[in-house]
Amino acid sequence: MVTIDGPSGSGKGTVAALLAKELGWHLLDSGALYRLTALAAINHGVDFADESSLEVLAGHLDVQFEPGQDGEGMTIILEGETVGANLRTEEVGAKASKVATLPRVRAALLKRQRDFAHGAGLVADGRDMGTVVFPAADFKVYLTASAEERAKRRQNQLQLKGIDASFDQLLADIQARDERDMGRKVAPLKPAEDALQLDSTRLTIQEVFSRILDGMRN
Ligand code: C5P
Repeated sequence: MVTIDGPSGSGKGTVAALLAKELGWHLLDSGALYRLTALAAINHGVDFADESSLEVLAGHLDVQFEPGQDGEGMTIILEGETVGANLRTEEVGAKASKVATLPRVRAALLKRQRDFAHGAGLVADGRDMGTVVFPAADFKVYLTASAEERAKRRQNQLQLKGIDASFDQLLADIQARDERDMGRKVAPLKPAEDALQLDSTRLTIQEVFSRILDGMRN
């Protein structure tokens, strides 16, 4: 079991997917569960201040993760409908980070996340994988990068999709999300004491990947 935690845009999702492929292990994208809770709340018109209803939604999420076509990525099915690119929008990410501040929502998602660990090896990526969900993981990574670099990467990703986004706006969004994720009372984003800490600001994904594999082997 490997956990990879870090702020949004640090590259952990990409590197977690590479590692899972290399090792032939399962992948848990825990952020997707918070995003799906937010999306279900939007779809059902649930008030984001209504913790009881959000807890019920999170506890009963009707979701399937299936291998994507041609073996790449993941197809996510929420309440029978394939979830598209809107799961990854900044709007849903911001709403996800709001529901993620609620202790009862986090508790409702805990068992579902731990269930991913049954059987084969697991690469789990998120904010509290090494600190709360899988504290006994064999190897833990805390991956970060400067907020400016993360905003630049996000801008490049959007550009590839033909979307022009303001750097200042992206930076402000990232800083607001960091503040919420690091400042919340339950399971704040922080490195586990025994995590390998990597700053990817000046590293390529391949370099990050190699350092993690080296760390696991030593
Ligand atoms: O990683 P991703 O951007 O998809 O996560 C969306 C939001 O879900 C994060 O900003 C964070 O607030 C929340 N999250 C969390 N704990 C996790 C994974 C994600 O609180 N393990």
